[in-house]
Amino acid sequence: MSHPQAPYTGRFAPSPTGPLHAGSLVAALASFLDARAAGGQWLLRIDDIDPPRAMPGATQRILSTLAAHHLHFDGSLQLQSNHYPAYANALDQLAASGLVFRCRCTRATLGPNSTCIASCAAEEVPATLPTSLRIKVPEHTTLEFDDLIKGPQRLALGEHTPNFILRRRDGLYAYQLACAVDDGDPSITHVIRGSDLLDSTFRQLYIQRCLGLEHPRYGHLPVLTDSDGNKLSKQTGAAALDDNTPYRNLQSALATLGQPPIDADGDVDALLTLATEHWSRTAIPK
Ligand code: GLU
Repeated sequence: MSHPQAPYTGRFAPSPTGPLHAGSLVAALASFLDARAAGGQWLLRIDDIDPPRAMPGATQRILSTLAAHHLHFDGSLQLQSNHYPAYANALDQLAASGLVFRCRCTRATLGPNSTCIASCAAEEVPATLPTSLRIKVPEHTTLEFDDLIKGPQRLALGEHTPNFILRRRDGLYAYQLACAVDDGDPSITHVIRGSDLLDSTFRQLYIQRCLGLEHPRYGHLPVLTDSDGNKLSKQTGAAALDDNTPYRNLQSALATLGQPPIDADGDVDALLTLATEHWSRTAIPK
């Protein structure tokens, strides 16, 4: 169940694993323009629940880059690290519904899509062993949603991903759980993000459904790749955006998003105002 009646609220949710790059700007700008074109709010959430992958100073750098590009967020900055009680409650609720099992598998023994193919779910692995916590997805579970950019989407999740991690063996909450809970908050109505997260969307929709949460509308964007066809990624060292050239960076993000050319004579605010007026979801390459 989604909640189209609520006033539009979107969000941008970078992980502080490095500075923003050209691909991050596409996601930031599209989520910003989609919100502004709808007269809505645009929130910023820092997904900082994976300290081993965090880069010192990255959050501050992300904030400076967004400010340099005049992408000003509404309300106060949100940090996932402030939401641990909500994730713990969600996990308890899922466990109480019999949907969670302990898994002792290591990366080397996992099956396709990093699922547990051993008998952990049937075995009741003792809590004294180092284990991750996984959610069960019944075999015939198929999920569908109407993507705001790519149109109807469908996945036989039970076959594709019969189980996936909610809490890692190192005790950290998994991105899927944290993101499902945060985006399942009734205040969030729209999530516009890269197509690399399309599979994650099905997992998050599943978690939201199991928790009885409403879900936002989702739209998935084209993903920028390097010359080898790999997704630009903070972790693999994609070049940081140059905060001194916001106008040029935004123009190039608009071109990636298939938006009509705009000449604002180097004025970043004017560019964003015109881009909001001319924003077209249907022009975004699928
Ligand atoms: N924080 C994650 C990332 O940077 C998720 C983003 C999202 O869900 O929009 O890839």
